Amino acid sequence: MSSKKKINKKDIGKLLSRWSQQFTVLAPSMESGVATMAEWDGKDTSFLDWYRNTVIPPKANFFPPMEEMFSFQKDREGYHIELPLVNEHKQLIFGIRPCDAKALAILDMTFEEAYEDPYYLAKRNSAVLVGLGCTNPYDSCFCTSLGISPAESTDVDLMLTDIGDQFLIEEVTDKGKELIAKTSGLKEATETDEARAKEAKETSHNKVTRKINTEGIEDKLLACFDDEDYWEKIAAKCISCGICTFLCPTCYCFDINDELVKQQGARFRSWDSCAFPLYTKMPMENPRLEKWRRVRQRVCHKFEFYPMTFNVIACTGCGRCIRLCPVNWDITRVLESLPVKV
Ligand code: SF4
Ligand code: SF4
Repeated sequence: MSSKKKINKKDIGKLLSRWSQQFTVLAPSMESGVATMAEWDGKDTSFLDWYRNTVIPPKANFFPPMEEMFSFQKDREGYHIELPLVNEHKQLIFGIRPCDAKALAILDMTFEEAYEDPYYLAKRNSAVLVGLGCTNPYDSCFCTSLGISPAESTDVDLMLTDIGDQFLIEEVTDKGKELIAKTSGLKEATETDEARAKEAKETSHNKVTRKINTEGIEDKLLACFDDEDYWEKIAAKCISCGICTFLCPTCYCFDINDELVKQQGARFRSWDSCAFPLYTKMPMENPRLEKWRRVRQRVCHKFEFYPMTFNVIACTGCGRCIRLCPVNWDITRVLESLPVKV
């Protein structure tokens, strides 16, 4: 008997309701016209018709755009610090795409391996990721060039594949297996269902037609690192708005600020961007005052420095930076136009 399960699409609302008893369920949602992962309202499953991917990446659910680190009060004895309450309700993210699940695995390397970030890890370790395979990737997607398949993932706990009127459900991790064991209302998948899922995955994979060549990319970037003319040309039309970094699922730069009113205040961290001229301002100098240096940093960080440190490219090919850049700056064209000097 197959160990895979299935559910009718019309019963997804019931499934999410069951999971809502245990988790804060997040699902694709439109907020002011922007697709994001937001708390499910308990009834609406219309996202199954419109959802391709979110604009705001799911990193925001673990590493929010702004987060209070602690609050403080000052009196004669000094400062008294109060840590924020940890939300005990665990998050279940329904519908995360394989590229965005991979992005969280990439972020783990910074927030868990390199430095243990308690704010990120408290949310990340208690979360359940339920993946939903893409059936309609964007023209700007190039995940398959980064070893990611739009309908398969080892970075989620459960993976759902569209097989017509139903979803096939695969258990990927022990956490996913435990959840399925406690979930009623699922049917056993048949061999025919599995064959349909295999075909659907292949079809999705083949729909991603944009490609990049990552072979020797680190060496190519290293070789042109000092080619100022090249980087100036590449950076010319960028307006340093930072959108590509804020919305990139693997970018994690942040700033920390204290807000103080009279004797009390709070420390916040908020997203920052290497695209901003003041990002690297230091007391003596700013090593990335010119735009071309900042553009070079973004490209090299993802395709040269991160692989040097963690042995993985910090880009998932989600295509957000291409779709959402106001001046149509395209990272795939940049990577394809690197002057080859190796
Ligand atoms: S979104 Fe486009 S214009 Fe804005 S910083 Fe990124 S590349 Fe430059
Ligand atoms: S660099 Fe662009 S394509 Fe790559 S993960 Fe970031 S937003 Fe997605």
